[in-house]
Amino acid sequence: MPSSPVTSETGDPLLLTPGPLTTSKSVKEVMVHDWGSRDQTFITINREVREQILDVAGASETHVCVTMQGSGTFAVEAMLTSFVPKDGKILILINGAYGTRAAKICKIAGRAVTTYETAEDIPPNVAEIKKILEDDTKITHVFAVHCETTGGILNPIKEIADVVKAASRRLLVDSMSAFGALEIDAKDVYYDALAASSNKCLESIPGMGFVVCRETALAETEGNATTLTLDLFDQHKVMEATNQWRFTPPIHVIVSLHKAIEEYLEEGGQKGRGARYANNRDVLIKGMREMGFKTLLPDPLQAPIIITFHMPGDPKFDFQTFYDKLHQKGFIIYPGKLTVADSFRIGCIGRLYEKHMLAALNAVRETMAELGVANGTPAIAAE
Ligand SMILES: *Cc1c(COP(=O)(O)O)cnc(C)c1O
Repeated sequence: MPSSPVTSETGDPLLLTPGPLTTSKSVKEVMVHDWGSRDQTFITINREVREQILDVAGASETHVCVTMQGSGTFAVEAMLTSFVPKDGKILILINGAYGTRAAKICKIAGRAVTTYETAEDIPPNVAEIKKILEDDTKITHVFAVHCETTGGILNPIKEIADVVKAASRRLLVDSMSAFGALEIDAKDVYYDALAASSNKCLESIPGMGFVVCRETALAETEGNATTLTLDLFDQHKVMEATNQWRFTPPIHVIVSLHKAIEEYLEEGGQKGRGARYANNRDVLIKGMREMGFKTLLPDPLQAPIIITFHMPGDPKFDFQTFYDKLHQKGFIIYPGKLTVADSFRIGCIGRLYEKHMLAALNAVRETMAELGVANGTPAIAAE
């Protein structure tokens, strides 16, 4: 691979993706050791990580952090199947693949499900949620995605939380791609559980998720679980009693996350990280628009996580060639996953700074010239 003038700290291509993402060299370096899972050194690191996550969530007084092996979806599945009781019913708010996936999880688990779906570029209407909850008194829980990574849209999580609480129902949040970078303070946004993972805005490696659980709500979940491994009640009970994970912990991931949180706090926590990502987003969108590209979302709905661009209308633009040429230049972007529009995505999270976004824009400019594409204007750009 030709060397890029700008690479990650370890010389790797930059991941302009929503995670797994580019991590710092130090976050990877802390993993070159072995730890005993029952040894005090690891137990201390594990306890600190769980406490720090609660701190980031603003939830130390009210919630507990239950960690879970696996990718983020394992944590979401653990949350849904542990919190929604067998005789419960959940309203799933869908505007992308992660909402759809949550509905599938609940159906497999045999839970009663109803959905409220809007297009990938449309947030749910809070008045509509209120009405659904009034009309269907069987609904006990509501599931919402904070930033729906499919289109990159920011959903109105505070307004959703308020309407769910006013209707005396329970809220379960998938904040996977937002937690740590976008504000969601448990003192302000009322929820029973919130799921996120190690490998998104906290900038560690993949391998574990966690669920921030309201302690009183978790206490009511005994016997709800549909699987042994994803039972949050039991996972928490055993960890509190023994300081141990029930099954082999992802030790290296936890140690890496511990380091990543240290760097996160050095950066100024949610405010610092959120500001860097917002600047990355703004620089990227500005540069892409200068080349004629058009974003799927209007600016007020665009979270600083991942940006969806319409495919250029020029017939000389071939996405696979565009992708491959960017990869050769040291940048890995993300294909589209939308149903509403032919598109591709560029992430702006991970160990990426303004200089990386500017370098990515240069690479896009060069690649467009190599393809003979004059500009990125989509076919539908008449509007
Ligand atoms: C990344 C992500 C997940 C989890 O996906 P995994 O591939 O299982 O890590 C869940 N929800 C959202 C919104 C995400 O962005």
